[in-house]
Amino acid sequence: MDEITALAKRRGFIFQSSEIYGGIGGFFDYGPLGSILKRNVKDAWWREIVELRDDVVGFDSSIIMHPSTWIASGHVANFSDKYVDCKNCKHRFRADHLPSLERCPDCGMRDALTEPRNFNLMMQTNVGPMEDSASRAYLRPETAQGMFVNFKNIYQSARKKPPFGIAQIGKSFRNEITPGNFTFRVREFEQAELEFFVPDDGNDLAWYEQWVHARKKWYGDYGVRQDRLRFHELTSQERPHYAKVGTDVEYLFPWGWGELESIAHRGTYDLDAHMQLSGKDLTYFDEASKSKYTPILIESSAGMDRTALTMLVDAYQSETIAGEASGKETTRVVLRFHPKIAPVQVGIFPLARNKPELVERARQIERGLRPHFRTQYDEGNVGQLYRRQDEIGTPKCIMVDYESLQDGTVTVRDRDSMRQDRVDAARLRTYLAERL
Ligand code: ATP
Repeated sequence: MDEITALAKRRGFIFQSSEIYGGIGGFFDYGPLGSILKRNVKDAWWREIVELRDDVVGFDSSIIMHPSTWIASGHVANFSDKYVDCKNCKHRFRADHLPSLERCPDCGMRDALTEPRNFNLMMQTNVGPMEDSASRAYLRPETAQGMFVNFKNIYQSARKKPPFGIAQIGKSFRNEITPGNFTFRVREFEQAELEFFVPDDGNDLAWYEQWVHARKKWYGDYGVRQDRLRFHELTSQERPHYAKVGTDVEYLFPWGWGELESIAHRGTYDLDAHMQLSGKDLTYFDEASKSKYTPILIESSAGMDRTALTMLVDAYQSETIAGEASGKETTRVVLRFHPKIAPVQVGIFPLARNKPELVERARQIERGLRPHFRTQYDEGNVGQLYRRQDEIGTPKCIMVDYESLQDGTVTVRDRDSMRQDRVDAARLRTYLAERL
């Protein structure tokens, strides 16, 4: 993990937030490559869940909502973790993350930990010019509630009838007691959530299974290694009382298994809770049967930062190879990203940076490919160029050499096999499209 964290900083994937001031725990910034990586992950999710289906609509709700939202959802009363403080070293820990409460895990002092106390994870702010309890509001700890409270607005305006879903990607905030493991547990993160509403006609479990299957396929389609991914079906003790069934999607990180997503059958719990507190009707009125009912909810909630981290960790490989130029054994660090996830898809370089004809030809090829692929022009020492592109996970690299000026062909190097093909520059677009 240290190697990956160092690479993420060196190559511009992820930086600690406000680093020049010593950083702030649980917040990170995505650099030039990291921001594209995360965007690609979100786009891949949105494409699959919203664009390629005619039974899911997109949505984008505000981060701050009416405070009653969080009373109805149960977050004000229950969204808390238990923490303990060490009376000796003053460090704070999540009680359920400690193997035992006998000894402080940091300073080792016996009987120094306080009794577990509740800590609400919602971040607070004030809305308007007064800073009193009447103006108190929360930064949402999940995006889902925006979709529940708008259920009626959405189905009426989009003219949708259950079974149908609402999806959104957006920021959520949780004042985690112990953020850590790089971007795995942070205090500001993005979630991609799907709320799929189905009629109570006996097919609810089949819909749930369908979504578990769809999500399994998605991770596979983007190349996440199957032996590091598991779908853990929750026991009745592990899932909330209102959930009929639930599955956690987990990835084997260097520190162990960690949750990426949770898929759950939530019954009518969420809509019922908002109807009760708001007094507003959030049932679905079925024109055909002239009757109304509260739809059952199947939810999939995935963390985009955790998924982007998974893509990074899963792609990372350090291997010993024979050097491409020297033939000597060398270590190669490579990110084997799926081509759709890779921040740069095609790198283009001239063989020599001091030969204007080569530079001009390479730049011209790069300009031609730019509207169709994520490209990057670079120049310098050939070995270092490949090394750099391997480290950022670029699947294909194009080298323009003297032969290119004579016969119009270029060398295309494949990241994974390191094989080099000679390709007619006029055919590059088709050649790359077939492989990316
Ligand atoms: P955990 O048990 O790891 O705290 P959770 O069960 O509270 O997670 P959910 O409430 O189910 O998480 O949230 C859905 C998804 O949102 C998680 O699967 C995860 O990918 C993401 N997520 C939740 N909390 C965080 C966080 N602090 N940092 C990054 N992502 C998070």
